[in-house]
Amino acid sequence: MAYSVEVIREACIGAGSCAVLAAGTIEMDDENIAVVVKQNGDSDEDILAAAQSCPVDAIIVRDETGNQIWPEA
Ligand code: SF4
Repeated sequence: MAYSVEVIREACIGAGSCAVLAAGTIEMDDENIAVVVKQNGDSDEDILAAAQSCPVDAIIVRDETGNQIWPEA
């Protein structure tokens, strides 16, 4: 599996947990907004954990077929 990640900038409130849990994939930019710096920089499990940690569901995770894994519909 290889999840892809997208951060909805307008939704991010800069809580930062995602950048801790998936440090190889997501970093905080100079506006304290999460940004994807590298797809698959972490395991799928860590990427999903990062997305699930987001208090405002600003991180969209899709599987390799494009199906949305998180947030759940
Ligand atoms: S956890 Fe959510 S709100 Fe916090 S920095 Fe990441 S994307 Fe933004």
